[in-house]
Amino acid sequence: MRNVTCPCEAVFEADLPETVDLDARPRTVEEILEGTFLTARCPECGTVVKPDLPVRVFSGSRNLDIQVVPEMERYAFYRGAVPLPSGAEAVIGYRELVERMRAVRDGVSPRALELLKYLLLARAQQDAPDAEIVIEYAGREDGTFLFDVWGLKEDAAGVVKVPASLYDKALEDLSRKSAEDPFSRIFAGTYRSVRVLEADPDEDAK
Ligand SMILES: [Zn+2]
Repeated sequence: MRNVTCPCEAVFEADLPETVDLDARPRTVEEILEGTFLTARCPECGTVVKPDLPVRVFSGSRNLDIQVVPEMERYAFYRGAVPLPSGAEAVIGYRELVERMRAVRDGVSPRALELLKYLLLARAQQDAPDAEIVIEYAGREDGTFLFDVWGLKEDAAGVVKVPASLYDKALEDLSRKSAEDPFSRIFAGTYRSVRVLEADPDEDAK
């Protein structure tokens, strides 16, 4: 049982896991994609709450071991103040877990997606240098790769379509680029996301 705090300020206990083996509970992949994973209904007001709690998701058959760090601890994680279980990689916040499960569902390389996100981020920052832009892989559609771009419009994502040929190129360039800056930094640690560059104050492109 884990303690959950509702926006109504009620604190209640909910039967939420701390670790999930996707091989033993394959339904969880869909629950993560649908947004029902790690949710609990508040007994006071009836709201379905999605708490910002740490959870470890692993799968031996998919070679996955992911620790979800609460979004609230993002900056503490950047400072090295949030230890991970040995062997686990980090995603920060539930949305990044969803993004990762989309990659698992679609059989695409999370690292090649980060290469594409870096390109999209650079382009979006040219158009809006002061915006805090976050890009998420949204899935595939008719041979294209869809990315949601957050931060350009209030409370709405713009959608960018990337042709499959560009993904194939990213996959091809992956081993070479992984050795070069900034990807050598992005892929060096346990949090292999373009957002890790936010943690580096010297990085202009963010
Ligand atoms: Zn409530």
